[in-house]
Amino acid sequence: MSDSPLPLTIRMHADDNVAIVANDGGLAAGSVLADGLQLRDRVPQGHKVALVDIAAGAPVRRYGITIGSALQPIVAGSWVHERLLEMPAARGLEGLPMATVNPAALPPLEGHTFEGYRNADGSVGTRNILALTQTVQCVAGVTAFAVQRIKAELLPRYPSVDDVVALEHGYGCGVAIDAPGAEVPIRTLRNISLNPNFGGELMVVSLGCEKLQPERLLPLGSIALVDQRGASQARPEVLDVIRLQDDAHVGFMAMVEAIVRQAEPHLQRLNARRRVTVPASELVVGVQCGGSDAFSGVTANPAVGFCTDLLVRAGASVMFSETTEVRDGIAQLTSRASTPEVALAMVREMAWYDAYLQRGGADRSANTTPGNKAGGLSNIVEKAMGSIVKSGTAPITGVLSPGEKLKAKGLTYAATPASDFICGTLQLAAGMNLHVFTTGRGTPYGLAAVPVIKVATRSELARRWHDLMDINAGRIADGTASIEDVGWELFRFMLDVASGRKKTWAEHWKLHNALVLFNPAPVT
Ligand code: CA
Repeated sequence: MSDSPLPLTIRMHADDNVAIVANDGGLAAGSVLADGLQLRDRVPQGHKVALVDIAAGAPVRRYGITIGSALQPIVAGSWVHERLLEMPAARGLEGLPMATVNPAALPPLEGHTFEGYRNADGSVGTRNILALTQTVQCVAGVTAFAVQRIKAELLPRYPSVDDVVALEHGYGCGVAIDAPGAEVPIRTLRNISLNPNFGGELMVVSLGCEKLQPERLLPLGSIALVDQRGASQARPEVLDVIRLQDDAHVGFMAMVEAIVRQAEPHLQRLNARRRVTVPASELVVGVQCGGSDAFSGVTANPAVGFCTDLLVRAGASVMFSETTEVRDGIAQLTSRASTPEVALAMVREMAWYDAYLQRGGADRSANTTPGNKAGGLSNIVEKAMGSIVKSGTAPITGVLSPGEKLKAKGLTYAATPASDFICGTLQLAAGMNLHVFTTGRGTPYGLAAVPVIKVATRSELARRWHDLMDINAGRIADGTASIEDVGWELFRFMLDVASGRKKTWAEHWKLHNALVLFNPAPVT
C-alpha cells in the first residue's frame, strides 16, 4: 500500500514470472517481498521484478502472455527493465479466431438516466455549444477574433448556451484532396460539425479559393438535417456560409461583423433548448488512454473496462480505439467479435494500419514513449495488454474506419491512431458526447466540444494533480477500493457530468487541446 512501508507487488496472472512494484517511490535493493524474495536492485514504482530466475531467451510473462524474451539471464529479484527484453514480432493477421468466444449478452442495466439536449436527428447532446465550422486553416485567425466578440457581446444574452467554439484545423488547402486517404480528414471535419453537442446548428466560415469548398465539406443532400421544430422555425435549405473573399466584405471588420451577425440566429435557437431526461443509452462514450504507465492496466483501465460493461448493459454506445495499442491483442478482439463480419472488419482496419506504418518506415514499436518506459512499460506488447482492458468484456458489435460516424449502439472498435489529440478528434467525429481518458504519467488533456473525464492510475498522481484528475483509480492498487467500486463511481460521475450537474476539471479550467485531423494522404 502506498502509505505503508510494506513492500507491495502486483502480479496480474498466475503464469506471470514478473510482478510490478506498487509502492510510491519504488523499492530499495534488499527489500524483502511478502513471499521472502529479496530485491537485488532498486526497482522504481510500476517497474517489473523477476519472481524467478529467467534464462536467456526465455519468455517474460505479464498478463499471462509473453511480453518479450530475456536478452540475458535474469536472476530472481532483479529489476526487469526494457533493455533486458526483446519484443516479440507482431502476430500475423491470418488464421485469427473469428467470433469464436461468443460471449453471452450482458444482463441489461435499467433505470439510469441523465439530462441531455435531444437533437432533431435523434442524437443527444451533453452540452449546448455553437460551433463555427471552418473549411480551411486560412480563416482561423478571423474566426477566432469573431468568436471573442461573440463571447463578449452575444453569449451573455443567451445563458443556456454553454460555449462558442471555432473548429480550427490545419486542413483545407495545400492538400492532395482527391488522393486515396483524403476522404478521412474530410469526413472527420464533416462529422465533427454534426457532433451531438452542437445541436445541428451548422455555420461555416470559408475563405473562398480553398480546395475544400463548403459544398464538398457539407453536401446538404447527404446530411440528415431533419428539422422537427415546425414551419415557423424552418431552417433555410442552404448552408449558412460566410465567405471572407466575397465582395461584400470591405475590410477585416466587415468579415468579423458578418460572422457575429450570422451567429445570432443560431444562438437564439440553441438558447431555446432545454435539457430533458433521457436514458443512459443515449451516452456515446469514447475511451482513451494517454501518458500510460504500468498501473494503467492494473487500476484505471480495468475500472474503465468495468464501466464500459455497465454502459453496454445500459444500452449505450462505447468506442475504444488506438489501433497500435490494441494491435498485439488482435486475437482477443477478433475472438470477441459478435459476428465473423465484425472480426473481418477489425482485421481490415489493422491491416490498413500495418501498411500505413510500413509506408512510413515504422511499425508498432514506434508507439511507446520515454514516459511510458519510465512508468515501467517495456514495450508496446505490455502497453497493449493494459490498454485493451478499457474495452471490458462485452461482445464487440461494430467497427468504424477513421472519421466515420457511429451507426449503432453497443461496443465498437473505432479505428484511430493512438495519438491523444487525433484519437479524440476522430471519436468526436464518430459522435462522442462524453470522453473518458486514463493517465498514469499525467496529462492535462481536454477538449472544447465534449467533457473529458480524466482517471488517474495512481494515488500519487491523483494527489499531486488534485485539480486536474477527476477520478482516482490508484485506490485499487492501494487496496482501498475495488475495480467495481471505481467503475461504478465513474459510471455515476459520467451521468452527473453528462447532465451538466458536475463539470470535469478540464472544463473548469477550460483546457482545450487542438483538433488534429488524421490525414493519411499527401500534401502538395
Ligand atoms: Ca492515446
